[in-house]
Amino acid sequence: MDSTARRRPANSVDAAEFRALCAAFARREVAPRWEQADRDRAFPRDFYRAAAGAGLVGVALPHSVGGADLGATEEAILLEETSKANPNLAVALLVQEVAGGLLAEFGEGELLDLARANIAGDCLLALAVTEPEAGNDVQNVKTLARRSGGDWLLSGMKSFITLGGDADVLVLLAQTDPAQGRRGMRFFAVDRNSPGLVASQIGTYVNRPAPTYRITLEDVRVPARRMIGAGFREIMAGFNRERIMVAARWLGHMQTALAWAVGYARTRRQFGRPIGANQSIAFSLAQAHADIEAVRHLTYHAAARWDAGVPLDRVILDVSTAKLLATQAVVRVTQTALHVGGGWGLTEELPAMRLAMDALVAPVTVGSWEIQLRAIARQIGLPCD
Ligand SMILES: Cc1cc2nc3c(=O)[nH]c(=O)nc-3n(C[C@H](O)[C@H](O)[C@H](O)COP(=O)(O)OP(=O)(O)OC[C@H]3O[C@@H](n4cnc5c(N)ncnc54)[C@H](O)[C@@H]3O)c2cc1C
Repeated sequence: MDSTARRRPANSVDAAEFRALCAAFARREVAPRWEQADRDRAFPRDFYRAAAGAGLVGVALPHSVGGADLGATEEAILLEETSKANPNLAVALLVQEVAGGLLAEFGEGELLDLARANIAGDCLLALAVTEPEAGNDVQNVKTLARRSGGDWLLSGMKSFITLGGDADVLVLLAQTDPAQGRRGMRFFAVDRNSPGLVASQIGTYVNRPAPTYRITLEDVRVPARRMIGAGFREIMAGFNRERIMVAARWLGHMQTALAWAVGYARTRRQFGRPIGANQSIAFSLAQAHADIEAVRHLTYHAAARWDAGVPLDRVILDVSTAKLLATQAVVRVTQTALHVGGGWGLTEELPAMRLAMDALVAPVTVGSWEIQLRAIARQIGLPCD
């Protein structure tokens, strides 16, 4: 069987009801927590437990490990709705889905127990792929896994690992056989408190409620049963699914920025009338609405094709197009909101700057703009390297 063939979701739910559930969760559990977490640059662990308690961890994971076994469409709804309240706590849920998915889909024995514990709220996960010399170029991962008796010894460095210092277990990509290149890559489930593993926070202007970490590994011992049977092909398939969720994340964020800017443009008065009465302001917000609607259709179209089992080589065009336009639009829309805010938009008294800052990570992660453009160029028949 093609190892990237997709398991079809076993369950379906009423989309409107599921959206209402996610929106209520976002209002109840995301909105009250993110500001403090942003200030402290500290992930609120109780948020993860609350998400698990609400049945919103492992929404796309199989029933066999306690997941809800829903599709990419429902996962996208979760990301969109939670991101409306805050895109950074939302991304913590995405990390759980991606890392948990690797454990559940390609693991056995103890790895499945970890997936179960993750869904139950008892095992926070991080996904550790990026390295100082392997950003978009994932094939260049150098963290080495060498055999030592029945175990593996892992040495190397990871960078920008969301929740890397908070997680109980890191689902971490390493090279088991450098001579094999990307075919030698495997994921390992590594306990964060393993001797030889050190996590140090990287100060960023973005994602502060779900901070990123540098992880150094010096002869970190990992039992053979903690090796996950997923290699490079599965990584790339997983990235493509993740890109739909990233588009959904920014779709939610844009709606918050637009709602705020419209409200401000209706009430802020200059020259004796609301600033939104000026066509230049009104048109920029109308354009933002059009951007959002385009991204909504692209994102859910890609998710529906993913759920329908369209083969990876044909769904990539939908995925990359949605991801590219979502990540471009969120920068435009949040900059528009910031501009509508004028000088007050730059203060801590209004949310415009925070919304714009958060969006700055959109062009970069899970395949940058250029990587999406390269994928699209190849899909439309160009010999683009
Ligand atoms: C807040 C945050 C959270 C993150 N969370 C995680 C996480 O949880 N786990 C994880 O593994 N990683 C994570 N990352 C890493 C993220 O995925 C990488 O930052 C990303 O892959 C880009 O890598 P890089 O920063 O090394 O940029 P580089 O790859 O060095 O790219 C730099 C620039 O060069 C461009 N470029 C690169 N190659 C090409 C090319 N072939 N053609 C044209 N242009 C190119 C890029 O588009 C970009 O503009 C996170 C990053 C951030 C900032």
